[in-house]
Amino acid sequence: MNRIPILGKLTPGKMRRHLIQLPGAALAKDEPRPVISITGAKSGPMLFVNAGVHGGEYPAIEAVIRLSNTLDPKKIAGAVILMPVINLPAFRARTPFVCPIDNVNPNRVFPGDSAGSYSEQMTHALINEFVVLADAYIDLHGGDIPEALVPFVISRDGDDDVSVKSKQMARVFGLPYVLTVSKPVQPGKGHRAGAGGLSSYAAAAEKGVPSILAEAGGVGQIQEDAVALLVNGVVKVMRHLGMIQDGQVESHTETKSKSKPKKTAHSALATTVLTRFEWLYTKHQGIWYPHVAAGDLVKQGQEIGTVGDLFGDILEKIVSPVKGVILFLTINPSVLENGLLMGIGAKEVRD
Ligand SMILES: [Zn+2]
Repeated sequence: MNRIPILGKLTPGKMRRHLIQLPGAALAKDEPRPVISITGAKSGPMLFVNAGVHGGEYPAIEAVIRLSNTLDPKKIAGAVILMPVINLPAFRARTPFVCPIDNVNPNRVFPGDSAGSYSEQMTHALINEFVVLADAYIDLHGGDIPEALVPFVISRDGDDDVSVKSKQMARVFGLPYVLTVSKPVQPGKGHRAGAGGLSSYAAAAEKGVPSILAEAGGVGQIQEDAVALLVNGVVKVMRHLGMIQDGQVESHTETKSKSKPKKTAHSALATTVLTRFEWLYTKHQGIWYPHVAAGDLVKQGQEIGTVGDLFGDILEKIVSPVKGVILFLTINPSVLENGLLMGIGAKEVRD
């Protein structure tokens, strides 16, 4: 099987570890990136999974590492290609949100540009060397180093075949919240938009590949519950795609997990579908005092935090523009002017 040329020939029934050099002049001197191919004994779909578009989202990165060491090629149909960290410069430097080489948020510049900045060349390579060659794509994220988060999945909204398949994958993944969005997530975190201006899942869907972006964990730590949610979510999607039979793999990954995940990680949770993602920013730089936690439900008009100056005076009251749930929250006190404070998931009010 030679469907992913950059990985060379893949042998059915085998796991292989690769160290790859992505194409692109800006990437020529990069440290090689680890990729793991798990090629099933039987033929079937090809699933591509990566983490580390944001290099400080550690539960997602650990989930991909965990999958690479637990999925058994003899027991799967098709192939899973796993890349633990695409944005390796950010991982090495512990840089949140962006790639430190060009200060661009890679998840705002999909599908990238082969002649663009470092991040644009990196996302271009990811899309063209892997994503477009796959039958399905999962991009794993979480809260970044200064963010707390409740687990959720994002996919593109729409009635076309790719969007419908993406939404099915999003529901199957099994996290408490599913966000289906028809417009791109707001260009946030104070950085310029680049070529394409899309997030990974949206760019992949544009190319005809059913895809989701799943988020769990945050605050710059490996949280076992979040790792387990992401590992099990990928396994559930594999089962949905017919790549594994019931009970073949999931029990294996669960026994490998070092701590016992909470009950909610495995029980059938009612999934709430949200259609609006509202991001809140501070106007002023200063100290951020949130009055809410990730996962809290908030009302429209509710005061959910304040931003103060270094004398202790309040500069700004932060009020929720919608009724919804706090999906992610900046938990570090220092905020810059126009700094991102939180994302609230809500249901679109249709009139
Ligand atoms: Zn992320």
